[in-house]
Amino acid sequence: MSTAENPTPGLRLDVVTIFPEYLEPLRHALLGKAIEQGILSVGVHDLRAWATDVHKSVDDTPYGGGPGMVMKPTVWGPALDDVAAGTGAATRTAELTSSLPHLHKPRHDDLTGSEGIDDGVDKQPGADAGKPLLLVPTPAGKPFTQSDAQEWSKESHIVFACGRYEGIDQRVIDDAANRYRVREVSIGDYVLIGGEVAVLVIAEAVVRLIPGVLGNRRSHEEDSFSDGLLEGPSYTKPRVWRDLEVPEVLFSGNHARVDRWRRDQALKRTRAVRPELLEQVELSGRDREALEGE
Ligand code: SAM
Repeated sequence: MSTAENPTPGLRLDVVTIFPEYLEPLRHALLGKAIEQGILSVGVHDLRAWATDVHKSVDDTPYGGGPGMVMKPTVWGPALDDVAAGTGAATRTAELTSSLPHLHKPRHDDLTGSEGIDDGVDKQPGADAGKPLLLVPTPAGKPFTQSDAQEWSKESHIVFACGRYEGIDQRVIDDAANRYRVREVSIGDYVLIGGEVAVLVIAEAVVRLIPGVLGNRRSHEEDSFSDGLLEGPSYTKPRVWRDLEVPEVLFSGNHARVDRWRRDQALKRTRAVRPELLEQVELSGRDREALEGE
């Protein structure tokens, strides 16, 4: 397996969890293909491998009282030490393999000679440069955004710590800063049962942005949030379906008109659904006209 000293090319993900089988979806579809291509490697670690008592317990009652259980620092600490260093039980990890052979099935939008994985982007320069990134999903974390996904797609090693019950003893997160760059991150204002689903969300959003994972780089350059706006509607064949017609402009063959129409649709949808996003976007005079012309 890779370590901080010896990262695999592309991205190495390590996930520590009490439910390793929850991470199975990472083997499928484009992420599975990325594993086959060597762009991505994934190790899933069962936290109980670091539990020392006969019951393999990973949680205990909270200090100060209250409902629920808290995950123990005495189990999480050694687990995160080993995963950072590639030592101990971390060497006996289950490596995820791709679910299906995808390599010989080109996607419809694959580009001939499409981007390789080296896009010349520096991997996190700075004092903490050698440390892996530790992502701790928690509803009390900073909201995960597309710009985090962009930034983290340039990482070489990301470790996820999946909480359960009332979460992980806070000292684990504080102490991990000695070996990791640590981010506590929320995927939304609601409470899940455990961090595994959050890991699937974040991993998928990050991996699809690694050069070479999507055949056509434009696929994500035009997605929602890339320019600060939500993407407008999309259409495919047939031209008329259940008496509903595809907007005429999309058949005009005039790329400038089509681009303008798409921008107008994105502006209108963003205003209707997420008006607060518009405050962060630099609007041209033409953009304002589109919004005022409603
Ligand atoms: N007691 C915690 C609180 O109120 O903040 C909630 C713990 S939750 C029941 C158990 C675990 O689910 C968390 O440790 C975290 O790993 C995960 N989780 C729940 N909601 C999440 C969210 N919105 N984003 C990321 N992770 C979440």
